[in-house]
Amino acid sequence: MEDYGKFPGIYVHVPFCRRKCPYCDFYSITDTNWLPAYFDALMGEIRMAPQPPGPYDTVYIGGGTPSLLTARQIESLLEALFKQFEIAGAAEITLEVNPGTVSAEGLKRYRAAGINRLNIGVQSFNDDMLRFLGRIHSGEKAGETIRRARAAGYDNIGLDLIYGLPGQSTKAWHRDLCLAMDFLPAHLSCYLLTYAPGTPLAEQMNRNRFTPLDEETRREMFLFTHDFLLGRGYEHYEISNFAWPEAGRSRHNQKYWRHAPYIGLGPAAHSYFNHRRHWNVSSVKQYGDCIISGKLPVEASEDLSVEQEMMEAVFLGLRCSEGICIDLFETRFGINFHTRFHDVLSRYQAAGYLSLAGGHCALTRNGFLYADSIAEALIQLI
Ligand code: SF4
Repeated sequence: MEDYGKFPGIYVHVPFCRRKCPYCDFYSITDTNWLPAYFDALMGEIRMAPQPPGPYDTVYIGGGTPSLLTARQIESLLEALFKQFEIAGAAEITLEVNPGTVSAEGLKRYRAAGINRLNIGVQSFNDDMLRFLGRIHSGEKAGETIRRARAAGYDNIGLDLIYGLPGQSTKAWHRDLCLAMDFLPAHLSCYLLTYAPGTPLAEQMNRNRFTPLDEETRREMFLFTHDFLLGRGYEHYEISNFAWPEAGRSRHNQKYWRHAPYIGLGPAAHSYFNHRRHWNVSSVKQYGDCIISGKLPVEASEDLSVEQEMMEAVFLGLRCSEGICIDLFETRFGINFHTRFHDVLSRYQAAGYLSLAGGHCALTRNGFLYADSIAEALIQLI
């Protein structure tokens, strides 16, 4: 199996959107008048950011809506990254694209500039669901964007979908999945809708403007998604992510789940290397001001203790289908895994939620439903 944790990755945050979706808690703004100043500052940060040694084998341009950048800006961005960082020849270079923000010509030029993987924010093909989510596109527009991407020469395409919406049935979700299958995506992220505190959607829910889907139906939909996509030849390689066996996996996202080093550029972007995490200011203006005055736009940083890294390794490891590699965990943290976690492991193994086979501690299909509480129980023992 490819070692996704060996090399560092680069994340670039593009904090602009046409309109804010009411469920979203990512940092982005809708005033694109700030885009030129942001872009100049980003070029400055690329020149001055400290970096772990390369080669870097992934670049992920996310957001926000990176497809609001012009093809010329994507070309300049990649040129600057290639100049400043040692990027491997076969690097995975992903661009997030939202339907309704990109032309056929733009997609071709992104491809020519070096983008070799697209992640398209479809969310749903159902117009009622898209309206509820506050998206700017229709199901038809989503399909058109995927067709354009194929015509532009992208063979590595991932689609983001959201399910578990108020009033949505498993049958309606099945229809969405079938429509997604028509496009043969190499990768599918299927996110159960969550109501992040502070978002407009969470506020609407708290004011009883709608009734969220009950937990039992959400669980049923999660298991349905697993069974349906495995039946179509996908692997369920992370709790919300499915891919064509190994080739379709997001190499970049696996770096986050496997504690590999990465550098984040742009407002609100996080970096992690040398046991330290730091994150940039969540303000385009402050970001630009820092770069103009020759300062790194870092808001704060934290040095992770051994215990914190162990907790993260448990939490993130359990989200992946391969789970926690017990040998690696013991070598890294100098503990005996079975002795330390014995009580919790046997309890959840007996319940059929955990498997301890082949030197890995992994959640089962049903165990994924309780990933957070199982991780929490293990973390209590750290
Ligand atoms: S387009 Fe994406 S990043 Fe922008 S507001 Fe919507 S969910 Fe958030």
